[in-house]
Amino acid sequence: MFDYLIAGAGFAGAVLAERLAAGSGKKVLLIDKRPHIGGNTYDYYNNDGILVHKYGPHIFHTNCRDIFDYLGQFTEWRPYEHRVLASVDGMLVPIPINMDTINRLYGLSLSAEEVDRFLQQKAEKKERVITSEDAVTSKVGRELYEKFFKNYTRKQWGLDPSELDAAVAARIPTRNNRDNRYFTDTYQAMPLHGYTRMFEQMLNHPNIKIMLNTDYKDVVDDIPFKEMIYTGPIDYFFDYCYGKLPYRSIEFKFETIDKEVFQPTGTVNYPNEQAYTRITEFKYLTGQQHSKTSVVYEFPKAEGDPYYPVPRPENMGLYKRYQLLASSTRNVYFTGRLGTYRYYNMDQVVGQSLALYKKILSQKENQKHVNGNKFTTLTP
Ligand code: FAD
Ligand code: UDP
Repeated sequence: MFDYLIAGAGFAGAVLAERLAAGSGKKVLLIDKRPHIGGNTYDYYNNDGILVHKYGPHIFHTNCRDIFDYLGQFTEWRPYEHRVLASVDGMLVPIPINMDTINRLYGLSLSAEEVDRFLQQKAEKKERVITSEDAVTSKVGRELYEKFFKNYTRKQWGLDPSELDAAVAARIPTRNNRDNRYFTDTYQAMPLHGYTRMFEQMLNHPNIKIMLNTDYKDVVDDIPFKEMIYTGPIDYFFDYCYGKLPYRSIEFKFETIDKEVFQPTGTVNYPNEQAYTRITEFKYLTGQQHSKTSVVYEFPKAEGDPYYPVPRPENMGLYKRYQLLASSTRNVYFTGRLGTYRYYNMDQVVGQSLALYKKILSQKENQKHVNGNKFTTLTP
């Protein structure tokens, strides 16, 4: 008998499997319908021996020391700060928009204070910032919004920025200085030997059994277990009883080029002319030395693997109905980006699953006390 059946071997499922097995001595069966562990962070060496990320570029960053240290038990880190250029007006300029972006686009040489004034003049006054359009136009004005955000967002989500929550575009800050890092988190690093190796270390425990190529629904009635943790799409768990939650998918096109370097930085964004949103060159991320180089193009699409929950009010409304069902489903816990329909980064998923582990532990503690009390009242 397994103590836990966990569906999904991405960060959400793997963190819980590791904690329950190594932290609490529980017996865990970890099931994934894909042929590998790691979820969307899975990486592998391609035919040319270059380490690539099967489901698009994954760059680790967090402000939380506990999360960084927790994962550090399973990998060494390679410090890496991601930088992105955007192809706009025939130039490659830094995104997030910073002092250099403004000066290069407009042929100026503004100081930090002058950049602030320049953007204040362009910014549109908003009573309330509700949509992604509001989030950007209220900071940088309509012209920069149209150059950098409008079409990129339409491609990425199949929606206009005015149809998406402000939080989506608000992921990208605006800077008056020359900092051209994509993220400013305290801890920014890549697992030295890749994500898959890190997951192998996490899951290397005698209490964890792994079953791949298996949809949990095909085995759930045959395998005895006490409780379940589910990290797949929440609407699928409930057989889409309220209808399908929208997810955005991506088609990844990989290319290996017979030269050492393809582009000047880890990622180049293409907001406007191209059908793809961005090209990422893996060697920047992994630090690998190789005479060839591999890149991935991202073509967003509606159908396919569910990669992105789509943050907008009507979807949140539908999710809430599923969440209510989830909270009244006994002995099943829901977590992860798909299980809780949240546009979470890797570190947020790790944090969410570590918190769920603590909650499970404290529930068990409370049950012990309740049972203990019952016992004492029953035996005078
Ligand atoms: P997943 O990794 O999706 O794992 C869920 C697993 O459940 C999958 O392996 C799936 O096969 C399995 N599953 C689903 N249904 C079933 C079923 N019925 N039976 C059995 N198994 C099932 N985050 C960052 O922090 N930095 C980045 O740079 C970054 N880049 C990203 C780029 C892209 C293109 C995408 C899509 C995401 C990116 N993320 C990034 C987000 C990151 O991928 C997620 O936060 C994280 O991987 C979520 O982990 P998870 O375990 O919740 O979900
Ligand atoms: N975005 C944009 N132009 C850019 C970069 C980002 O319009 O050059 C918007 C777009 O809506 C995107 C969101 O900001 O989906 C968040 O970008 P991020 O790079 O964080 O997306 P992710 O890496 O999660 O795909």
